[in-house]
Amino acid sequence: MMRNLYPDLYAENISEITASMLTKMGMEAVVLDIDNTLVPHDDPNPTENVKNFLRDMKDNGIGICVVSNNNYERVKAFAERIGIENFVSDALKPRAYGYLKAAEVMGIEAEKTAAVGDQIFTDIWGGNRAGCLTILVKPIDEKNEPWYIKLKRIGEKPFIRR
Ligand SMILES: [Mg+2]
Repeated sequence: MMRNLYPDLYAENISEITASMLTKMGMEAVVLDIDNTLVPHDDPNPTENVKNFLRDMKDNGIGICVVSNNNYERVKAFAERIGIENFVSDALKPRAYGYLKAAEVMGIEAEKTAAVGDQIFTDIWGGNRAGCLTILVKPIDEKNEPWYIKLKRIGEKPFIRR
């Protein structure tokens, strides 16, 4: 279980992850967390950096799927807003389910997908269990997070410092 809590890679933000880097590692798709990975909590509008990231993936044939524990309506609306057709809602992270489902939706093996997220105890744990390459990004906006997520981060600290 402990092994599943370590990301394969760590990125300062989404802009550090490029299609060419993923291709070199044999990855064919990215599975993206939404809150604090692509946009701050309760701010549905992606920044220019996020738009550029998505464009880089699309232009280079990397599949994209968003995966979130949020409900269908919310996740669908977000995916539409950023122009991504593949999404998985009610993902039950940290279970492997959402990541396996994302791979299935895209028709790509989970081993060839990179799971990107800001939380060890949901995104990284779930991605590792599904066999994805896991990439931990720094949360976009730590200050505005709800308290319960902050509490979880206190527990995450030893895993980041390695
Ligand atoms: Mg998140």
